[in-house]
Amino acid sequence: MNAQDNCIFCKIVAGQLPSNKVYEDDDMLAFHDIHPKAPVHLLVIPKSHVDSLADCGAGEGQVLARMMLKVPELARAAGCSNGFRTVINTGPDGGQEVYHLHLHVLGGPRHAWKGPLP
Ligand code: AMP
Ligand code: ZN
Repeated sequence: MNAQDNCIFCKIVAGQLPSNKVYEDDDMLAFHDIHPKAPVHLLVIPKSHVDSLADCGAGEGQVLARMMLKVPELARAAGCSNGFRTVINTGPDGGQEVYHLHLHVLGGPRHAWKGPLP
């Protein structure tokens, strides 16, 4: 059995688990975080499983760049009119809970959510 067989984000990619999707293409998926830590809280993931940023190599370079470049458009479309925060938690000390690389996009009026990172 591969690590990704039990990966909730791989199951979302495969359509085996539901998600509130906001964007999808051949390489990536973006959806609303199930427990939002801000008025806007999106997750952007590569479709192809990789555990974390620390496990990325040159092979992930293109999708990482595409994810990053997509963020401003997704944030704007989700209602972030005045900026947003991007976070990638990596490993135990980075607070990573789901071991499928994901980029958090957090936004909305700052007074509504200023606080600890997700
Ligand atoms: P991290 O701590 O960076 O690994 O963050 C994992 C994030 O995934 C948390 O913010 C969770 O709320 C979110 N999450 C976990 N399961 C789901 C799910 N099924 N759909 C959407 N978001 C999820
Ligand atoms: Zn996965």
